[in-house]
Amino acid sequence: MAAPRPPLHETPLTALKGVGPKMLEKLAKIGLRNVQDVLFHLPLRYQDRTRVARIGSLRPGEEVSIDCVVEQSSEIMRRRRMLVVRVSDGSGWLTLRLFHFSRAQAANYHKGAQLRCFGEVRPGPNGLEMVHPETRRIDDATPPPDDDALTPIYPTTEGVHQLTLRSLTDQALEMLRTGGRVDELLPASLRARYHLDDLSDALHYVHRPPKEAELHLLGEGTHPAQRRLAFEELLAHALSLRLLRQQTQRNPAPEIRGTGALATQLLDRLPFKPTGAQARVIAETVSDMQRAWPMQRLVQGDVGSGKTLVAVVVALHAVEAGFQAVVMAPTELLAEQHYQNFRTWLDPLGIPVAWLSGKQKGTARRAALEGIKEGHARVIVGTHALFQNDVEFDDLGLVIIDEQHRFGVHQRLALREKGARDGRYPHQLIMTATPIPRTLAMTAYADLDVSVIDELPPGRSPVTTVVIPDARREEVMTRIRAACDQGRQAYWVCTLIEESEALQAQAAEDTARILAETLPDIRVALVHGRMKPAEKEAEMAAFKAGTTGLLVATTVIEVGVDVPNASLMVIENAERLGLAQLHQLRGRVGRGTAASACVLMYHPPLSDGAKERLGVMRESSDGFVIAQKDLEIRGPGEVLGTRQTGMVQFRIADLSRDAHLLDAARDAADAFLDLPSADPAPLLARWLGDGVRYGDV
Ligand code: ADP
Ligand code: MG
Repeated sequence: MAAPRPPLHETPLTALKGVGPKMLEKLAKIGLRNVQDVLFHLPLRYQDRTRVARIGSLRPGEEVSIDCVVEQSSEIMRRRRMLVVRVSDGSGWLTLRLFHFSRAQAANYHKGAQLRCFGEVRPGPNGLEMVHPETRRIDDATPPPDDDALTPIYPTTEGVHQLTLRSLTDQALEMLRTGGRVDELLPASLRARYHLDDLSDALHYVHRPPKEAELHLLGEGTHPAQRRLAFEELLAHALSLRLLRQQTQRNPAPEIRGTGALATQLLDRLPFKPTGAQARVIAETVSDMQRAWPMQRLVQGDVGSGKTLVAVVVALHAVEAGFQAVVMAPTELLAEQHYQNFRTWLDPLGIPVAWLSGKQKGTARRAALEGIKEGHARVIVGTHALFQNDVEFDDLGLVIIDEQHRFGVHQRLALREKGARDGRYPHQLIMTATPIPRTLAMTAYADLDVSVIDELPPGRSPVTTVVIPDARREEVMTRIRAACDQGRQAYWVCTLIEESEALQAQAAEDTARILAETLPDIRVALVHGRMKPAEKEAEMAAFKAGTTGLLVATTVIEVGVDVPNASLMVIENAERLGLAQLHQLRGRVGRGTAASACVLMYHPPLSDGAKERLGVMRESSDGFVIAQKDLEIRGPGEVLGTRQTGMVQFRIADLSRDAHLLDAARDAADAFLDLPSADPAPLLARWLGDGVRYGDV
């Protein structure tokens, strides 16, 4: 008996004919390192060379073979020299057009020549044509094509010809057919439940579909054989996130139990009642924190849905149970604002709130650190400076992270480590105002439990959105005057493409000056990223107090600014911003009871993309709808950004195409782990390689 062969994922590419050191390097560029990789390198599309079509039945866009006779051939000069050949097959005629040809090649197209041509059919000036078809001479005795499979076209790189890839896949498939192993890693019970083909059958099919295959399904990537492979990949990712989650849950955490007396004291003093959605999310969180393992919960709530109150209430539960709570925001400005809010709510209850920022120096910093360490500070608000090495907590029970996706998965995990003490991990509550489409949430955040605040506080009136060219600036001035005359306030956001903060600040200063001149009766203030924190704070406070009528700002106000009396948002050059940012900015108004408006001012001409974005903004105010559109327009990588979020990179699956498989893949992952003999390791190794392929922060 021959020695057993190594499985194909351990079989080097050099085992294939035609792979030497040079080719090895090139193949590495497209991610091919072993023979199994070749099998998982799937065609982008397919050509049908299995049959000969009749010219009379051709449609533009088709890639087909035809058998034809040359009726006429002429070399002509337009802007360049070309050969124009008219051919027919009795059912119709067609033009062949060649730009590069030698004398000898031109001679092949003499009148009466019989040809088989393969190419894409396109509309031309005189009916349908093929440009540079693959052509060969035939005669009456030539049999029809003997290809019995559709021809795969592979993604490739410079210097790797389609024929090479076809030869490599031919050889790899041959190895597979003759005992080379690509292990079937899905248990039969799961394959049956989810109607999944056998892996090796699926691979054969996808690489060499039979000629009767449904080309349109294959083209869309939705054929059962393709689905089989995408499903396995999604399942592997779901498994890895489940395991990550299980691992987290094995860590001990402080059990936060109490009567909720402090929270009740706060709620009793509020001028309003929590919305049903806020109450539900608070309850979910409080019940998570009672457990002896760390909560990992993501709260999604559209702008203005009242996430801050949720944060304050759950922090009070931790404080009541004798633990410290930390609230962290991604920017100084937002953190400062949380600090103010928390002070307003907690000072009357006699609960000490501390502030820690990276900019704090000297005595102030030492005092803050001391208070945190000694446990005098019960709630600590700040930026990521909270997790620098010199910060020691007395007994940290809860970490609240606002605007999570600016921090990223890795930072999130790092924070968890940082907060650990004596092997005990604090609970984590992550809040985001950027609604995450479900498909993304299920892949990028599947290790978290998710709560949604899907209700806005009562009495909000919807924000009317208008889109106008900047030539109509006068009308905008009139609107600002009208709002301020009614005792309301307005924002003017300068969006600048300049990278430099200095230039942005300069431009915002210019705009503020011009607006102040144009609107002499209105007090105009300015905030931008280059101002000293104290100055910024003073301006924000003045705006909040209503002393300032119009606040000119760079996009620093995007997140978190809460001034319910502001009823008008003007965004200059709105065409430069993405949907998520526009939605965040618009969310700054419509927080009070007054009818509010958002003016999206653009500088023509608008690109198609910008037109589409502004249209979406005009039509919808639902953060989830907008996020979904954003995903459709920009794709998952762009929406969250690999770097920022640890978006998963898929090899075969495609989040927009395969979204409908996600639920099943996740259920299958659970079912897999429930099987007594389940070993997820080989699946993870096949699809995720050595590490989980999250983008690095
Ligand atoms: P976001 O979710 O965007 O962080 P905020 O927490 O800033 O929203 O809340 C927006 C505004 O709504 C604040 O002025 C807040 O005091 C107010 N608010 C929060 N909850 C309620 C409620 N249940 N009823 C009325 N107003 C509320
Ligand atoms: Mg907020």
